[in-house]
Amino acid sequence: MDMFSIKGKTALITGSGRGIGYAIAEALASQGASIILSDINVQLVKESAEKLQQAYPDVQVRYLIFDVTKKEEIEQAMKILYEEDGGLDILVNNAGINLRDRVENLSDETWQRMLDTNLTSVFRVSRAALPLLQARGAGKVVNLCSLMSEIARPTVSPYASTKGAVKQFTRALATEWAEYNIQVNGIAPGFIATDMNTALMSDKDLNDYIIRHTPAKRWGKPSEVGSVVAFLVSPAADFVTGQMIFIDGGFIISL
Ligand code: NAD
Repeated sequence: MDMFSIKGKTALITGSGRGIGYAIAEALASQGASIILSDINVQLVKESAEKLQQAYPDVQVRYLIFDVTKKEEIEQAMKILYEEDGGLDILVNNAGINLRDRVENLSDETWQRMLDTNLTSVFRVSRAALPLLQARGAGKVVNLCSLMSEIARPTVSPYASTKGAVKQFTRALATEWAEYNIQVNGIAPGFIATDMNTALMSDKDLNDYIIRHTPAKRWGKPSEVGSVVAFLVSPAADFVTGQMIFIDGGFIISL
């Protein structure tokens, strides 16, 4: 057995039209997994699926359009997947947003949207995927946490609250689904150069601080997140569950 092989496995990655989600899809495709991209951005996900298929002609690349905040759309997507494949091996709960503001400026609507997109979605998509994972007799779930699962700064209260909760949801789910042979882990990227962070990268003071404080002295690349997920969803990590792995160039352990 090749302990790192995920050849022939099927992986669904939410919010994978671009950024970290797409990079995770690329990493899993490079290891032989059949990929299902999904996003709310129809044009983006179609183009990304074409690009990925061209880069990895030996694996099957498909896409599903669904909004992770919509229960009916999630259930419909799982129904389609079940009819097409009869199961699922790997679920990556990646879709997420970051609406930044100070607490005194935040509306109820913004707060709720953050909870729905970053936290409730992880619960709902995981719940809906369970019968498909069980159909395979084993499974892997990876949830996107963050540095902000542990630390904070001004304007991130909704983001930090949701990512802290995703860390704890990951642990709780790991304890429940171990009996189904499903491992559930989290990854906590640090500062990764994606569209989500355009505003931070163009804020000179903050950008300088990030580079200075990160022992690796640079932003991370989305591919460096994808490679860790490829390990976590492989047989090499079959005895790893309930963990949250930082992918941050040493930011969290540096004084
Ligand atoms: P991104 O904004 O580049 O990409 C997010 C994708 O999710 C987009 O394609 C978007 O269309 C999709 N999406 C948004 N809302 C959705 C919804 N309701 N349903 C379905 N798809 C939806 O973001 P990113 O930087 O690639 O971040 C991906 C994940 O990684 C997020 O959960 C984010 O919180 C987490 N993360 C990112 C960083 C970082 O530095 N970029 C650090 C830590 C954690």
